[in-house]
Amino acid sequence: MMKNRKRTTEEYIVLSISGASALCIAPFFFIRAFHSEWAIALLDLFTVISTTVLFTYVYNTGKILVARWLLALLCIGIVVATISLKGAQQIVWLYPALIGIFFLLNPKQSLFIATVMVIGLGIFLWDQLNYIFIVQYIFSTLITLLFSYAFADRMLRQQTQLKELSVKDPLTGAGNRRAMEEELLRITEQSSALKHHTPCLILIDLDEFKKINDQFGHSVGDNILRDFADLASQKLTHDDHLFRFGGEEFVVISHHSNLEKATILAELLRESIDQHSFDNNLHVTISIGIAEYSHDETGFEWIGRADKAMYKAKNAGRNLCCVAA
Ligand code: GH3
Ligand code: MG
Ligand code: MG
Repeated sequence: MMKNRKRTTEEYIVLSISGASALCIAPFFFIRAFHSEWAIALLDLFTVISTTVLFTYVYNTGKILVARWLLALLCIGIVVATISLKGAQQIVWLYPALIGIFFLLNPKQSLFIATVMVIGLGIFLWDQLNYIFIVQYIFSTLITLLFSYAFADRMLRQQTQLKELSVKDPLTGAGNRRAMEEELLRITEQSSALKHHTPCLILIDLDEFKKINDQFGHSVGDNILRDFADLASQKLTHDDHLFRFGGEEFVVISHHSNLEKATILAELLRESIDQHSFDNNLHVTISIGIAEYSHDETGFEWIGRADKAMYKAKNAGRNLCCVAA
């Protein structure tokens, strides 16, 4: 089931942490067993087996939702158990466990769980530690928590920004062509599950846009594209997604729709653009092709039908909506 799928970064993180833990702790099991330290040897054995099971599960299924929580809890449980069994000298294992938690869970969840762990262990070790060691413990864990949180938070923000940039058209803020193709693929891959609602595709082309560019300049043309996307977005619901297909062509994918609803929406878009006064008091119109998704067609075929309908609207005089055959 994993054969044709690219693994995500999150999967690699879970696989690395579980795999590395199993490999690193396995020798300790033999060392402890050799010295007849059975309690800690059993703990090592439990760790090796559970991390191996998690590794195998994620490797085979690619599912990480539960696995990352289990692995984080395992990190905590094992460090707490080791320190309880062998005392304060085992505190060195706390630091990699804290950092591991930040790799597995989101920054806020990690900060909460790691802080509870640090405080809990601090209380547990209170009697065993001298004054200097307590101060060192407080500052070293505090610094580890702060640095890990700052790093994880920055990574998450950058990841969100990059994701947004990779799917957005920079000029209009609409979804870009890549995002549109991904959405078409999602729809066509689930085509058998779409029994009760049919997605519709509305292909929009701005009429005689070249003339506007030629007459008023490219920057006026750009402003019109931007305003068009803003105006269109105001008319859409959260079930309708707007994409810039290319140049002065846009696509709305309307989920949970049907031909009747999509035609009403297309007509609403056409009318609102027709009535709007754009930059330089310009009057702009759009021609639209509407195609309901027909089961088992590819995204390419679906768009092709909408495109044909749009050209019918152009040939019939522009500023019109046409439904695809
Ligand atoms: P039709 O009614 O048949 O669609 O005529 P049209 O002039 O809109 O169509 P055509 O395909 O001949 O021209 C499209 C124009 O859109 C040409 C190109 O300069 C302009 N265009 C494409 N992308 C951009 C853009 O990002 N900014 C601006 N300002 N113009 C663009
Ligand atoms: Mg065009
Ligand atoms: Mg055009």
